[in-house]
Amino acid sequence: MTTLTDDQKTTLTNDAGIPVEGPIVVTLDGPAGTGKSTVARLLAARLGLDFLDTGAMYRAAAAIALDHKIDLADVPAVLERVVDADLHFDWTTDPPAILAWLKPLNERIRDTDVTKAVSQIAAIGKVREHMVRKQRLIGQQHPRLVTEGRDQGSVVFPDAAVKFYLDADPAVRARRRREQMLEAGIDAPSEDVLLQDILLRDSRDSTRADGPLICPDDAMRIDTSPITIDEVVDLLVVKVRVKLAAASS
Ligand code: C5P
Repeated sequence: MTTLTDDQKTTLTNDAGIPVEGPIVVTLDGPAGTGKSTVARLLAARLGLDFLDTGAMYRAAAAIALDHKIDLADVPAVLERVVDADLHFDWTTDPPAILAWLKPLNERIRDTDVTKAVSQIAAIGKVREHMVRKQRLIGQQHPRLVTEGRDQGSVVFPDAAVKFYLDADPAVRARRRREQMLEAGIDAPSEDVLLQDILLRDSRDSTRADGPLICPDDAMRIDTSPITIDEVVDLLVVKVRVKLAAASS
């Protein structure tokens, strides 16, 4: 059996051309409807990394508050119930399923009432602190990770090896969201209604005091409007490979 030296180990790469060992965090931030979740999941699969959907955590918090009929403005009550739910992921499923009180929340987190309420819940500083702590713990347990959300490169993983900010024209985002909903068998409202929802969510997400949606200075900004999801993934795979190779040379 050949024993590899430490230098040889760090230069060993997988099929996607990235090192097979050592921590690698790739962050993807951006507004709603850029295809970020799908891109992040496919990118993680291509790179052989784990995938974290942090939006699912905030959506889970919103679903819990709604289902327990908690007034969304009652911050202590929201926080108490969300902490009690002990949100975590089942990493044996693909994508990892979010659990509350050990039970999967499944598609409940994608329902329209949850989507409408989520940015209000995500603006609560104490809820964000709780989620950021959980996300960093996940980062310790899954140090080879593609993570997507609004604050992953700016707040949660400021030292991430590679950071992306995905953006797209709001009208394109509304169209994509509608197509996604129809594909998932959800009764989708018109593109105009979805566009208004997206703009409201963008505005709430970018103007809140804690962890607002921003493009970190050291992130690569990608406009996904003119290209397909598969093309975005191909582009990101190359950019990750180049960035990691530059960092190790
Ligand atoms: O990405 P997704 O649309 O599932 O996110 C739902 C909502 O969760 C966002 O509109 C935002 O309010 C919140 N969120 C957040 N920070 C994250 C991820 C999501 O505030 N890191």
